[in-house]
Amino acid sequence: MRLAEPYTIAYETIETAPNVFLKATTDNGLTGWGCAAPDLEVTGETAEMVVRTYNDTIEPFLHGQDPFRYALLLQELRNFIPQAHSALAMVDMLLYDLMAQQAREPLYKLLGGFRTSIPTSITIGILPVENTVERAGEYIGKGFRILKLKGGAGLEEDVEKVMRVREKVGKDIEIRFDANQGYSVEEAIAFIQRTTSARVELLEQPTNRHNEELLKEVAANVPIPVMADESLMTLKDVFHLTRHGCIDMINIKLMKVGGIMEAMHINSVAKADNVEAMVGCMDESALGIAAGLHFALARPNIIYADLDGHFDLVDDPFVGMVRLEEGVLYPMEGPGLGVKG
Ligand code: MG
Repeated sequence: MRLAEPYTIAYETIETAPNVFLKATTDNGLTGWGCAAPDLEVTGETAEMVVRTYNDTIEPFLHGQDPFRYALLLQELRNFIPQAHSALAMVDMLLYDLMAQQAREPLYKLLGGFRTSIPTSITIGILPVENTVERAGEYIGKGFRILKLKGGAGLEEDVEKVMRVREKVGKDIEIRFDANQGYSVEEAIAFIQRTTSARVELLEQPTNRHNEELLKEVAANVPIPVMADESLMTLKDVFHLTRHGCIDMINIKLMKVGGIMEAMHINSVAKADNVEAMVGCMDESALGIAAGLHFALARPNIIYADLDGHFDLVDDPFVGMVRLEEGVLYPMEGPGLGVKG
């Protein structure tokens, strides 16, 4: 799918969002859907790799299996293809879609149904200051109440941006900031100190993913929550990050962790340490966003959503699978993920 305009973060600029869609029918006539949004930098896969994994491993393995044995199926698949994060997420999503359809309930209810809707942030990629401020105004005009600003490529400009955006949007809008590993510890602390009056709500992944000591140092020295995103890929990661007191919050993306079942495990470990979670996304079709949303609605300690990856897609075949009203996301109330027809 094409993006309406190119999107820049600290380490890359992208213009298209390659997703892989999986459809399966059961012998009792249900049709389930899954979606992979591979990203070489984050999930370590390309769309071609996902398709190859499907042809070589997933299809031969999944054919004829019972979706309700999902713990077995996903465990075995993970043993075959441990690095295929988004391909695993695609299969997991499809199995959950089928189970919820069989239960004749929307997926978020099958998963726990803690909420029925959740506000989402809307992300502004790295743009010049003036454009960022203008874009912030446009999004607020469209009803969004939470902005996520991307930065980490230049401290001075980041500080100016946050201050100017706060001035533009007034005091009632939340501003979150994602440095995508772009800062040193000193820069991260300086950023928070210099933007104190702008009341940034949380700081996402300020430092390099490969050294969680850096995250810990930032978290110990700033008064706002520090969130792990790129540092959290696996269940082991969340255990390590919480056990060592490195972070205050986590960003769970189905594509990173390999789907809803693993996301539930990760969320439980976070919960054990009173760490709250946000559900984030890649550049995903509304199908993938719907799966993230159903998961986000399911559990008490998932308090934030950053499910905006589908807004900018030009030719998404699943457009309309989540409903946005005044910055709040609602799922389809039909069975499963809610794919029609
Ligand atoms: Mg992030």
